Amino acid sequence: MNSGKADVVVVGAGPVGLMCAHLGQLCGLKTVIVDPTDGPLKVGRADALNARTLQLLEIGNLFDELYALGKTCNTSSVWANGGFVSRQSSWWEELEGCFHKHFLMLGQSFVEKLLDERLARGGAGVMRSVSAERVEILDGGCLTTLSNGEVISSKFVVGADGSRSFVRNYFRIPFEVVRPQMIWAVVDGVIETDFPKVPEIIAFQTDSSDVAWIPRESNVDRFYVRMDTNCFTQEEVLQKINRAIRPHSLRFQEIIWFSQFSVKESVADSFSVGERVFLAGDACHIHSVNGGQGLNTGFADAFNLVWKLNMVLNHGAPSELLQSYEKERRPVAQSVIETSGELVRSTKFSATGFHARDYVSIVQKRAGNITGMGVRYGEEGLAGTRVFDFEIHRGAQRTRLYSLLDYSQFTLLVFGEGEVDIAFPPFVKLVQVAPHRRLSGFWSESSPYRDRVLLVRPDSYIQSHSSLDHIGSLLEGMKW
Ligand SMILES: Cc1cc2nc3c(=O)[nH]c(=O)nc-3n(C[C@H](O)[C@H](O)[C@H](O)COP(=O)(O)OP(=O)(O)OC[C@H]3O[C@@H](n4cnc5c(N)ncnc54)[C@H](O)[C@@H]3O)c2cc1C
Repeated sequence: MNSGKADVVVVGAGPVGLMCAHLGQLCGLKTVIVDPTDGPLKVGRADALNARTLQLLEIGNLFDELYALGKTCNTSSVWANGGFVSRQSSWWEELEGCFHKHFLMLGQSFVEKLLDERLARGGAGVMRSVSAERVEILDGGCLTTLSNGEVISSKFVVGADGSRSFVRNYFRIPFEVVRPQMIWAVVDGVIETDFPKVPEIIAFQTDSSDVAWIPRESNVDRFYVRMDTNCFTQEEVLQKINRAIRPHSLRFQEIIWFSQFSVKESVADSFSVGERVFLAGDACHIHSVNGGQGLNTGFADAFNLVWKLNMVLNHGAPSELLQSYEKERRPVAQSVIETSGELVRSTKFSATGFHARDYVSIVQKRAGNITGMGVRYGEEGLAGTRVFDFEIHRGAQRTRLYSLLDYSQFTLLVFGEGEVDIAFPPFVKLVQVAPHRRLSGFWSESSPYRDRVLLVRPDSYIQSHSSLDHIGSLLEGMKW
């Protein structure tokens, strides 16, 4: 039965697959997304969106709806043996070129629900209760066989099917897993406590640091508790929490999610097969939850990959462009694993004996990963860095640079006056920003890019740049 055609088949409707399909929809791609579950996640899992993700959400037209639902948090505190020790947030406050210098504490279920709704509204909702069972690579594309017997022909397949990825296993991509034998309980709930409650991430020190308190949206709080065995009760978890926060005490009025995870770390040997099949999210990298990077890294994969598929499919880009996906994302995945690995081990092993303080120091040292803002593609200079976000005006109206970017196109940002008299490929949008106030058109008096021209990729990294006199040279390499 040959029953469908698509540009891209997305295997898996976790957050990363949903984001891939959503971005595909923004680019006008025909996507088919399949998942064996009957609906988006309802509780649990990821709890924080970092500052870089918040910028990407603006480009994906998702920011306003999600931001309104979460709680902001930019502070890590240490509490030891019954007393407050320290409170730090400098690595957030010092971030440049962004408006939201904090985590947005918001459960993964809210993110999945919005994406799921957007896909349905766009007429390409998730095919539920169906899984991918076979993926063949043919000369011009792929054939994906589903568990309901349907066969979908597509140009590309994205395996966003989680840590046990069917796609990765099907193509026998090695995924060697390191297991440091650390097991954590995780509890989301509504609490009652006499502890002075603040919207901060708190690392507690007792003998080691085995309890962390994470603020969440509305009246929910989360606790991570290291148990180091997979056999424990809710009562034992609560005892550990109460030991950590003494002399205060805490009880749960309601438990919304109670789960456990053992730390596993791996990066897939390859992120793609034959420039036709790509892995994204947990399918190609897994690590401990410390630093809150799983969903954030997966979203950054999606933003890195989908515009490249679009350029190859619709704008004549050479298929070699797709090789840059793994080239750019593998080092990021590797450094995310190093960050979360160092963090989680510090909760148990400490040279100073003060695990909780070590933990916050590592957060500070690894802030580039944790905020997401330290990621760059390329060794040095402006090219490969994220374009800064700042205030831009259109006549009397105020907006921000990221609101002007369009995920389906490159943006040529010209920070200067004078006519721009060059021909553009159809996938480049011109935005000219004058250096002084004007009655109409864009202007900014605070641009860090005065008298420069930037060619910005759809995922908001700078592709290349020049002075105002050499605009034409920026587009020369773009004649695909
Ligand atoms: C306790 C906990 C706390 C976490 N906290 C954070 C945090 O604070 N911040 C953060 O960024 N991350 C966090 N994470 C990690 C985050 O949840 C994951 O990184 C994220 O869910 C990965 O998304 P994904 O879409 O890649 O994979 P998944 O969410 O695992 O989704 C994969 C999907 O693929 C589907 N699938 C599987 N096989 C098939 C098949 N054959 N055909 C079709 N579909 C298939 C599955 O049903 C699933 O829906 C946390 C995780 C846990 C467990």
